[in-house]
Amino acid sequence: MEHPSQPTDIAREALKWLSQRKLPPTPDNYRRAYAEVSGEEVKAAPWPEAIRTLLSQWDIRQVGLSQIKKREMVERVLINFGNQPNELHEKITALARSWSETPGSRKVLEGEETAAAGEAAEAVGESAGAETPERMVTAALPSYELGQAFTDNIRMFIAGCEVLWPDLAQRGRSLVAEIEAAQLQLADRHITDLGRLWREFIVRSEDNVELLEGLKRVVSLLFRNVGDMFADDPWVQNQVTAIHAMVGGRLNYHSLFDAERTLEEVVSRQKALQVSLKEAKSRLKGLISTFVDRVGELTDTTGEQHERIQAYADKIATADDLGELNEVMEGLTAEMGRMRDQMRQTHGELLDARQHVEQADERIQQLEQELQQVANLVREDQLTGALNRRGMEEAIERELARTERMAAPLSLALLDIDHFKKINDRFGHQAGDQALVHLSQVTKLLLRPSDSLGRWGGEEFLIMLPNTDLAEAEKVMQRLQRELTKTFFMHDNQRVLITFSAGVAERQAGEERDPWIRRADQAMYQAKAMGRNRVERG
Ligand code: GH3
Ligand code: MG
Ligand code: MG
Repeated sequence: MEHPSQPTDIAREALKWLSQRKLPPTPDNYRRAYAEVSGEEVKAAPWPEAIRTLLSQWDIRQVGLSQIKKREMVERVLINFGNQPNELHEKITALARSWSETPGSRKVLEGEETAAAGEAAEAVGESAGAETPERMVTAALPSYELGQAFTDNIRMFIAGCEVLWPDLAQRGRSLVAEIEAAQLQLADRHITDLGRLWREFIVRSEDNVELLEGLKRVVSLLFRNVGDMFADDPWVQNQVTAIHAMVGGRLNYHSLFDAERTLEEVVSRQKALQVSLKEAKSRLKGLISTFVDRVGELTDTTGEQHERIQAYADKIATADDLGELNEVMEGLTAEMGRMRDQMRQTHGELLDARQHVEQADERIQQLEQELQQVANLVREDQLTGALNRRGMEEAIERELARTERMAAPLSLALLDIDHFKKINDRFGHQAGDQALVHLSQVTKLLLRPSDSLGRWGGEEFLIMLPNTDLAEAEKVMQRLQRELTKTFFMHDNQRVLITFSAGVAERQAGEERDPWIRRADQAMYQAKAMGRNRVERG
């Protein structure tokens, strides 16, 4: 075939060549047509160079481009252009170039990275929009570094709660694993999860602070009382003042340690004091007996008086508490009045002894009062170890104050054991008691540390669930129902199934404690009315 030599002729012929073959006039096609028409040899695409570039970019680590992704891109190019060597060469070269322009180890802004990923996508015949990941977090840092900083932050969080709250630490670890699996690309749900973790952490920390504050109040009260009891003992006074100072300020491990040591000393001192109090009592008893004997010997008493005194002597021998001795002493004092002239001297001694007895008696009364005060502080149900009604009411009040601040959901569940009377009738009251203990134990194991369980009445329990909405509260109670069908109450090696009916109520904004409890109570009655062993919403 004749080849034209003028460039304008070659150009015209080349276009004709293209249209005959119905090929689009792309630069690459045109180059081929031009070569055909002019008789030049069509140059083979320079593959070694293209492969070398591809391989070198394959090994370099680019942000947001894993090797899996690179493989996908190459495969897509091979599928689309595998039969067109020149286009294939061009696309492979463009792909490698786009990788090289994707940010590698250098610092780049997120926008650049996304644009580069978009370009790479175009090279494989995809739209840039489809490749731009929606889940990418817009931030000033590149997403990779943001992900790294985020996981570092969670690791610190994990270290911080490893000891006190291993469950939170575990959740933190799962979150880190998840982010790492996503190649440090943060998604919204990661941020939401971390937010949840922090909120839980704050709620629990507040619990701890409140616990410490409560502890401090109890310790202070205790020491005020101890201080009053031993007002005349300067050593105890000094120790008490020291402990007050230690726990009065900010609590830390050192101050707690010092307070503990001082307390131990006070306890051992108290034991010593108790021993001497006992000795004093028995000495007092001996003294009075001797005194009565002496009265008998010394006075010129009538037979009647002698008998009366003897009766007192007998009483003293059998008396075993100071109150009784006090009575005897009162009688004796009256007796003494009649004998005053004969024994003025001894009478003085008797009054002395009586004063001692009165002082001891006063101290006992004071101790009884202290005991009563301590009993009033008790917030726990003795049988089940759950909170008692008063403790539960206080817990709810505290939580209400906190919920106002945190704006978190808060729910209550009131449960009442079904046909409990039958359990009592069949197995006895004591077994009934044990069934109550069993139910509280199973419940406590199932609840979270921030939840509270209180014995609200005989076989009625109230459960408070912070950070829990109505649906979740219902689920918790249903879980408890299932648990009771697995962990049976055992009586005389028999499995006894305990079921309950419950009402759940989520607190509405501004709702007071009692109407809120009433809603849970009404829902519980509805559950009873609807056949028992079920949970109803209030
Ligand atoms: P239901 O609630 O399903 O209607 O039936 P029930 O039989 O559980 O209900 P009811 O309220 O009539 O009876 C509750 C019984 O619980 C009556 C009481 O003797 C018993 N009870 C209450 N407190 C205790 C307790 O501390 N120990 C024991 N053993 N029994 C208790
Ligand atoms: Mg009941
Ligand atoms: Mg009942």
